[in-house]
Amino acid sequence: MTIFKADKLNTYYGNIQALRDVSIEVPEGSIVTILGANGAGKTTTMKSIVGLLRPRSGRVEFLGEDVTGKKPDQMLRRGLSLVPEGRAILSGMTVEENLEMGAYVRKDKEVQADIERVMDRFPILRERKDQLGGTMSGGQQQMLAIARALMSKPKLLLLDEPSMGLAPLIVQDIFRIIKEINEEGTTVLLVEQNARQALKIADYAYVLETGRVVKHGPASELMNDPSIQEAYLGH
Ligand code: ATP
Repeated sequence: MTIFKADKLNTYYGNIQALRDVSIEVPEGSIVTILGANGAGKTTTMKSIVGLLRPRSGRVEFLGEDVTGKKPDQMLRRGLSLVPEGRAILSGMTVEENLEMGAYVRKDKEVQADIERVMDRFPILRERKDQLGGTMSGGQQQMLAIARALMSKPKLLLLDEPSMGLAPLIVQDIFRIIKEINEEGTTVLLVEQNARQALKIADYAYVLETGRVVKHGPASELMNDPSIQEAYLGH
């Protein structure tokens, strides 16, 4: 079943067209990745999906519902949560407060229990629960950003360049964690410049160039595609 679908999104910054007929489908339970160079339109795609930018035309569907034009908090309530590029940790708040903020759209009483659950998954966050978010390392902040997004209990987790600026060993950790979160039942849409790592964990991939989808297919096929190897995998 398709959990998410974007159909022919066209997004502009003023007169500048950043997305051209971008269409993406995400099957429930999968990891789908969007690859592309700097400025290809990956972040613009994510922002157009979660309602931070309003496409001039196109349609967005989530869980069978037309959600075109819905605002980010309405998307979050429906189960679509974005870990933005740069992580956007609340640096003056503690780790635990950051996690509480991630649950602000929830009305149930299970928030505290879920904080414990995500701290089981990220033990470093329990160790540092009283530390200010801004004083954590880049890798720890990325884990906090992912954990905070999980606090809204998303059905679809969107990650915008989670490996950016992190040391190679930490990058390995982050990709492993994304895979585990997916195996535990959360569907993932992952934007990455690190094509090799992304293709390793993804089921399906889209390649964006200057605002257009130029190629898409199963991740294993793209990994063996000479033009992808040449342009994105450094062969
Ligand atoms: P990056 O890896 O740098 O995040 P990206 O693939 O996410 O790259 P976008 O940030 O989506 O690319 O940018 C797509 C295009 O839109 C680029 O040409 C960029 O210069 C342009 N752009 C992005 N943000 C703005 C803005 N606020 N105003 C005008 N143009 C913008």
